[in-house]
Amino acid sequence: MRFDGVSVAYGGTTVLDRLDLTVGTGEVMALLGPSGSGKTTALRAVAGFVRPAAGRVLIGGEDVTALPPHRRGIGMVVQSYALFPHLRVEQNVAFGLKAQKAPRREIPARVAEALEMTGMAGYARRYPRELSGGQQQRVAIARALAIRPRVLLLDEPLSALDAQLRSGMLAELARLHRELPDVSILYVTHDQVEALTLADRIAVMDRARLRDVGTPQELYRRPRTEFTASFVGNANLLPVTVAEDGVRLGSTGLALDTGTAVPGSAATLCVRPHLVGLGAGPNTLRGRVTEVQWRGSTHRLYVSVEGHQVMADVRELREAPALGDEAVLHFAPEDGVLLGAGVSDD
Ligand code: ADP
Repeated sequence: MRFDGVSVAYGGTTVLDRLDLTVGTGEVMALLGPSGSGKTTALRAVAGFVRPAAGRVLIGGEDVTALPPHRRGIGMVVQSYALFPHLRVEQNVAFGLKAQKAPRREIPARVAEALEMTGMAGYARRYPRELSGGQQQRVAIARALAIRPRVLLLDEPLSALDAQLRSGMLAELARLHRELPDVSILYVTHDQVEALTLADRIAVMDRARLRDVGTPQELYRRPRTEFTASFVGNANLLPVTVAEDGVRLGSTGLALDTGTAVPGSAATLCVRPHLVGLGAGPNTLRGRVTEVQWRGSTHRLYVSVEGHQVMADVRELREAPALGDEAVLHFAPEDGVLLGAGVSDD
């Protein structure tokens, strides 16, 4: 599935700006970004529900930009399930096959196969109102899979479910993905956990533009922009000045690989809170505790260092420090990522 310079505008406002993105066969690509960043619009452009103002959409190398939705070979699942309330589960799942004019005698077997894959084989005769939210969403997924799509589009498929169901369904989706090695999946979400868990690669969207693409590990460990750093995981983003072998945060010198950054220039240091430890170390930060949050497996400490708040997620802290206590923190030089200063494109 490929977006080739795809732009979409509503009433003169560009909501998708020249998107270039390729999703490989068998790949799960998450479109991650805040509400209104253009994710659903991108997905609807693949589905054929919006017509791009510019650019092309290709599926399997074929330009489908002018094809109607039902001729694109896609399955789609949306947040609200969108099942037909007056049709039984099996009729709902058969719906796309009938629309596609699949041979009549093949339909029962295809329906059974799709319900089997989603663990809903025992519910074929029920109506949607007789199912829980999670079960309804499984039926919606079965309906999308029944047509054996080349491309599966998932638009916030879990956001109507409660937290516990959501994590169960995440595991289900991961299993389905393994069973469908030939299907490309585009997964729209604003939830970083879903994106980090499911996606082979994540495309980060912000204000109609694609900001970053990479594997979850790449984006988490080496974000290229402040936006990605703060949207994919938590991040300390500290204003620093580039020095000869590191950076300065106020009067504190920190060792860091500064790459090609020019000494003297302003930049942003990104350090993940779980990589900041208590006590002195190679890069020591001194300050006072301004807040302590207990989060079950960790304590999050907020420490004011040189006038900037630094978050540290500390495990196995026997006794939490009190507000106003002096705190000494450290992080390893390789855990600091320098952004800005000509080293990113933000
Ligand atoms: P996301 O999925 O990232 O939340 P959308 O793609 O749904 O974002 O929307 C992007 C922008 O386009 C938003 O500002 C939204 O208000 C606008 N938009 C979406 N659909 C329409 C429409 N049918 N008419 C006018 N504006 C729309």
